Amino acid sequence: MKQQIYWHTTADMPSDKNLTPIPDRVDIAVIGGGYTGLSAARTLAKQGMKVAVLEAETMGWGASSRNGGMVLSGLKLPMQTIVKRYGRDLAKRLFQASLDSIDTVEQIVKEEKIDCGFARTGHLLAADKPKHFDALKDEVEFMEKEFNHKVHLVSREQQREEIGTDLYHGALVDEVSAGINPAQFVAGLAGAAERAGALTCARARVNKLRRGEKRFVVETERGTVVAQSVLMATSGYTGNVAKKLQRKIIPIGSFVIATEKLSDVLAHELSPKNRMIFDYKHYLNYFRLWDNRMIFGGRAAFFPENENTIRQSAEILQREMVTVYPQLKDVAVEYAWGGTLDFAFDMMTHVGEMDGIFYSLGYAGHGVAMGTHLGKTVAEAMMKGNIKEHPFASFDFPGAPLGLYDGRPWFLPFAGMWHKILDWVE
Ligand SMILES: Cc1cc2nc3c(=O)[nH]c(=O)nc-3n(C[C@H](O)[C@H](O)[C@H](O)COP(=O)(O)OP(=O)(O)OC[C@H]3O[C@@H](n4cnc5c(N)ncnc54)[C@H](O)[C@@H]3O)c2cc1C
Repeated sequence: MKQQIYWHTTADMPSDKNLTPIPDRVDIAVIGGGYTGLSAARTLAKQGMKVAVLEAETMGWGASSRNGGMVLSGLKLPMQTIVKRYGRDLAKRLFQASLDSIDTVEQIVKEEKIDCGFARTGHLLAADKPKHFDALKDEVEFMEKEFNHKVHLVSREQQREEIGTDLYHGALVDEVSAGINPAQFVAGLAGAAERAGALTCARARVNKLRRGEKRFVVETERGTVVAQSVLMATSGYTGNVAKKLQRKIIPIGSFVIATEKLSDVLAHELSPKNRMIFDYKHYLNYFRLWDNRMIFGGRAAFFPENENTIRQSAEILQREMVTVYPQLKDVAVEYAWGGTLDFAFDMMTHVGEMDGIFYSLGYAGHGVAMGTHLGKTVAEAMMKGNIKEHPFASFDFPGAPLGLYDGRPWFLPFAGMWHKILDWVE
């Protein structure tokens, strides 16, 4: 098993050869070269703005080339919770944004001719316990009644038509969701941003951000650029360049393994409709096929990726995968890797402006579609000057209770344990 991002072996990832020089001045400096930053840069550059994407590593290096490639409807929190918290009207706008986000990905893929296997294969949410299936029944009714959105149930008896296991107690299917190869998509998006005229500057970690009168001085490791506006698109890798934002975001590790290639027959048995699959647990697993490999991910350790967390997580994930699919007992795991998610304390995505700095953060594992879409819509709002009207800007962005967080997530082991307890109790 190699500690390597499998997706990178399938894509022509942007490199750091022929580095784009840091310009002296731009209209907008975008910090972070993932879906959010690149989608924003593409939109801004198309409108004639002078934009530089400043990326610490190479374009797409972060979560955007490491994820499960699930282009999902909905948000991290169940819509029932969101209605209770924010009321029906706002909940409707937020849910609609999630549907629009899938359309945005589809549209960009088409317009920019990005070869990344975009397909509306739907997602499947599997019930780990009988009471989860009862909750899914409620969910089907609720989504239809409140949002006029049709999702359907799959009973335990019908389950084999959807997934090659008897582990689950039924499932819910949403046909609207899609799958992509995440690295091919982010590489394509970087090319699209460049063609639109954005400068993509790799190896340009921003070390300091100073606010002057009507402009920012952005100091990178390769030089300084003066920008009228700044957009933070740094997700789980948000550092202390914008301390107030860093204190609102918890970086959490998520890990993935990829098996060797399976036979057509076995791949079809495991996921006959090629769904994007995840389970109902707090400590959830998510999995899907790509090129006849099982790509199996989960929050196996809460700390972000390093050699140890990847190794430990790969072992845990292999065990979990064989529990779901005993057919994979003797199948080799060829790749294991990790990436960092960004959770806000309220588990919601937030956009807005803080101390003059625009941001789009807190995707909580739902950022493939949403990052791409919010990158675009935040860019549009920056140009129009109406960010406050954005649906994801219309509720509070809370920090840690009692301010007990300075950007170093000391509480992650407790959070991990808490999730395990919740799974056991519930
Ligand atoms: C293992 C894993 C699986 C996932 N699976 C899914 C999934 O199936 N579906 C889904 O919807 N979501 C999934 N997600 C979440 C999704 O990948 C992210 O929400 C999304 O990629 C965020 O995109 P982004 O552009 O905001 O951030 P990123 O792609 O993380 O990019 C942020 C970039 O900012 C750069 N940066 C940070 N600080 C600085 C600085 N000071 N100067 C310059 N650059 C800086 C980093 O180097 C990084 O490249 C998953 C995430 C992980 C890690």
